[in-house]
Amino acid sequence: MSSLPFSLSPPTVPPSVFSILERLREKGKYGWIVGGCVRDLLRGQVPKDWDIATNARPEEVVRMFPRVIATGLKHGTVTVMDRGVGYEVTTLRGEGAYSDGRRPDSVSFVEDIREDLARRDFTFNAIAIDGLGERLIDPFGGADDLKAGLLRAVGDARERFAEDGLRVLRAARFSATLEVTIESATEAAMGDPTSLATFRKVSAERVRDEWQKSMSANKPSRAFDAMARTGILEVISPELCESRGCEQNRYHAYDVWGHAMACLDAAPKDPTLRVAALLHDIGKPRSRAFSPKTNDYTFYNHEAIGAEIVDPLLHKLKFPNDVRQRIVSLVRHHLICYTSDWSDTAVRRWLKRVGLEVAPQLYELGRADARGKGRPAEEDLRHIDELEARAKELLASGAALSTRDLAISGHDLMKEFSLKPGPVIGRVLDGLLELVLESPELNNRESLLGEAGRLAATLKPT
Ligand code: ATP
Ligand code: MG
Repeated sequence: MSSLPFSLSPPTVPPSVFSILERLREKGKYGWIVGGCVRDLLRGQVPKDWDIATNARPEEVVRMFPRVIATGLKHGTVTVMDRGVGYEVTTLRGEGAYSDGRRPDSVSFVEDIREDLARRDFTFNAIAIDGLGERLIDPFGGADDLKAGLLRAVGDARERFAEDGLRVLRAARFSATLEVTIESATEAAMGDPTSLATFRKVSAERVRDEWQKSMSANKPSRAFDAMARTGILEVISPELCESRGCEQNRYHAYDVWGHAMACLDAAPKDPTLRVAALLHDIGKPRSRAFSPKTNDYTFYNHEAIGAEIVDPLLHKLKFPNDVRQRIVSLVRHHLICYTSDWSDTAVRRWLKRVGLEVAPQLYELGRADARGKGRPAEEDLRHIDELEARAKELLASGAALSTRDLAISGHDLMKEFSLKPGPVIGRVLDGLLELVLESPELNNRESLLGEAGRLAATLKPT
């Protein structure tokens, strides 16, 4: 035991935590502050949630507090509500057998906090603060590992990863979010065939959640590189692994994988944008061809091929539909071939094609893409700035980009030309939009009706 290397006074620790610990003592039981929050305190951060371990049984905890939510009762967890905030109070648990690689077959309650700490995943997650808030209980040297920037499994890493498939993924995630190095025996065990076999049983939702959490790191590439090195990524997405070692052309300093990693780290901390950055060039390995003319590789149509790969991948990983569609769109349109000689019509056509909502994220993705090439990016960045500025200006001047923006509606067409509802209306409107993209000054009722008359005559079924 060692005395605390940080202060436990409010506002760091909410008063509720101490009142829960005190209540347990009044009832002749004991509580400890445990898990992620202790790790966060040791890193000088304010924990986002607080977990308490106790030697009281769940049903006793339920009786001790006026407001509880007994959702995790069979795993020993009771959520105690205090001042509108929930605190998880979990009865000390020992090691159980894990035959499904996901959760222990049965929960056995124990009396000794050290036994409870021994079932936890990594040394820095297996530290407790005693109920009086005076001492650290750190049987596996987690505080020293944290100081040394090391992630180490508690006990025998191979056994721990064979029990619960989520742990290898948590290791990869923590290596990024906590900026720690995975200790070598622990990393070797992550790639063990038994660990990977257990990892295969992890649900898609949990994989997705760990991906999302990894995206909050300064450098999420640490997590994805760890997944790639150990074989976890091959299980999640063999398609993405094809990028590893896939050499590019002379415009890139890295292979496709290295570029994806650099692009990921350069992207803003928005999970959608970062997943798009991770996956944006996933179509490159399958589109790569050698061109004798340029004496270099080409990646013709890799954006479209990539979008086709990303859609089912994100579906498999249970990303919400709107997020999946947005990422697919970002991948499909990530290649911005803008040059200063684009006409205003070309800019308007580009905006129409990619969609107004997607455009701002495409600029960001484009910037990350440029920065991730490992070569001077100034020229590419200047082009993106210019496209963004021109697009904004055109939009501010009221450019019509969809048929909804036209000065006349389908209703007007039906009335003026005695048309019946049907596909002709849509086709006339599309034709008018084409016209207005070329010549925005024609977006007025009179000009459009004139043109609509001509279009309707050619399209009207005879
Ligand atoms: P975060 O809240 O940032 O995801 P955390 O470490 O607090 O990180 P939780 O899921 O809140 O993660 O779990 C709380 C504690 O429970 C962990 O610190 C760890 O001690 C233990 N734990 C969580 N998941 C596992 C697991 N799969 N195997 C072993 N112990 C675990
Ligand atoms: Mg937590």
